[in-house]
Amino acid sequence: SKAKLFDEKSDTKTSFKDVAGLEGAKEEVQEIVDFLKFPEKYTSLGGKIPKGALLVGPPGTGKTLLAKAVAGEAKVPFFSLSGSDFVEMFVGVGASRVRDLFKQAKEKSPSIIFIDEIDAIGRARGKSNFSGSNDERENTLNQLLTEMDGFGTNTNVIVLAATNRADVLDSALMRAGRFDRQIYVDLPDVRERKEIFEVHLRPLKKEETLDVDFLAKQTPGFSGADIANVCNEAALIAARKGKKAVNKQDFLDAVDRIIGGLEKKNKIIT
Ligand code: ATP
Repeated sequence: SKAKLFDEKSDTKTSFKDVAGLEGAKEEVQEIVDFLKFPEKYTSLGGKIPKGALLVGPPGTGKTLLAKAVAGEAKVPFFSLSGSDFVEMFVGVGASRVRDLFKQAKEKSPSIIFIDEIDAIGRARGKSNFSGSNDERENTLNQLLTEMDGFGTNTNVIVLAATNRADVLDSALMRAGRFDRQIYVDLPDVRERKEIFEVHLRPLKKEETLDVDFLAKQTPGFSGADIANVCNEAALIAARKGKKAVNKQDFLDAVDRIIGGLEKKNKIIT
């Protein structure tokens, strides 16, 4: 069945307001929003609208969020799939899945296609660690390249892809007319962490004296996803203790817990 192939959500609910920090990245994707909204403005002098952009950065920094916000700001449908789906779920049918995805996105254009973890299909050819699945992955990658090359200038589908390993990608993906733009999405600095906290504190009942600068300073190295996690965890910790509002200590306990989780994860990797 096609049902689980990809989510198409007219995700008009996510906007740039939901994306804290990332000023540079937001500025760059603002241009993509504009391409989707006013294509004629850009093609009127004979220029070609870019087909794809690569969002590059560590896990949890808001790449998916940013892609959804582009769709939301432009008010266009959002088609997404994850590279790891191809490895895990779509064995043997990768190329036809890609064909279907692009067909649907074209039918609903203007639209956004978002490919998360593109490195799972876009690794440099002939360099995969997985023996056996190599041909399958290459077929999928080749289909992706074919689809992007097949777009006419008026297709008005823009493909955003995310990776935290741009260095392992097949250079064919980065060629002109494909993912020829790279947008960096870095870990937040202290000022950006404060902004991210503000976004995720919004729905919480917290003590009025809560010092957001303090929280930002306590969380160096945390990604946006980690901060979202801290806020949620703090609310659960406070609730478990029967409190009426989340306070500083709950956040500190949540930070400890998240750091514990991060350390465990790193141990598995090394
Ligand atoms: P991955 O590489 O692991 O797929 P990602 O970079 O795509 O991660 P997202 O999935 O966009 O990260 O982020 C996960 C969640 O973390 C978001 O849904 C959001 O709640 C929070 N988050 C991450 N970055 C930000 C940010 N800059 N502003 C606000 N929230 C953020």
